[in-house]
Amino acid sequence: MSYFESAYNGIPPWDIGRPQSEFMRLAEAGETKGSVLDVGCGTGENALYLASLGYEVWGIDFAPAAIEKARAKARERGLEVTLIAWNVLELQSLKRTFDTVIDSGLFHSLTDGERLLFVHSLTAVLEPGGAYFMLCFSEHEPGSWGPRRVTQAEIRAAFGQSWRINYIRQALFESNLPQGPARAWLSSIARILDSDEMQTVARKNPR
Ligand code: SAH
Repeated sequence: MSYFESAYNGIPPWDIGRPQSEFMRLAEAGETKGSVLDVGCGTGENALYLASLGYEVWGIDFAPAAIEKARAKARERGLEVTLIAWNVLELQSLKRTFDTVIDSGLFHSLTDGERLLFVHSLTAVLEPGGAYFMLCFSEHEPGSWGPRRVTQAEIRAAFGQSWRINYIRQALFESNLPQGPARAWLSSIARILDSDEMQTVARKNPR
């Protein structure tokens, strides 16, 4: 957290002052649906973009400096977004669910252990049938600068029986560095009911 908190004293490389093109394309294609949670929202460009289109949006980030900047932008732009300093490993305590979750650069910043906790926590906030859209650096980005590279196999391995991978596409992660955008994966991962949950639903709705 201190790495991120201090990064927001300046302008970090991922903080491009506009939404990531991949998330704009998802909204234009109608893939983003209903209420939206932006996990690790940073200074909020993706969340604010969706709010400007009329979506109900929450953005959370554990760096208070990022949330303060995001709130200031929302005020300046006259947009309503619920922005909270919160840990993405504790999504169940948000006590509500969303139809869509977006992630621009959060997943690739998590350790292996955190990934497990995060996916478990994500299960609690995403409505069954809803999708999690995740943009992360891919192993095709050369060098070792910046965040960890994530392979398709790692993405598939992180999501178990409550999930279905809709697609993992080649994508670009934009930054404000001179070398331009990084090679990335854009994943669409749907939350499905696992067999225990289906039994619970069946018990609640007897024929
Ligand atoms: N989505 C933003 C920020 C990407 S950088 C953008 O596209 O600009 C990754 C963000 O995840 C950082 O803002 C960091 O503070 C946040 N983050 C990392 N681990 C987190 C955690 N456990 N809980 C909440 N936020 C976290």
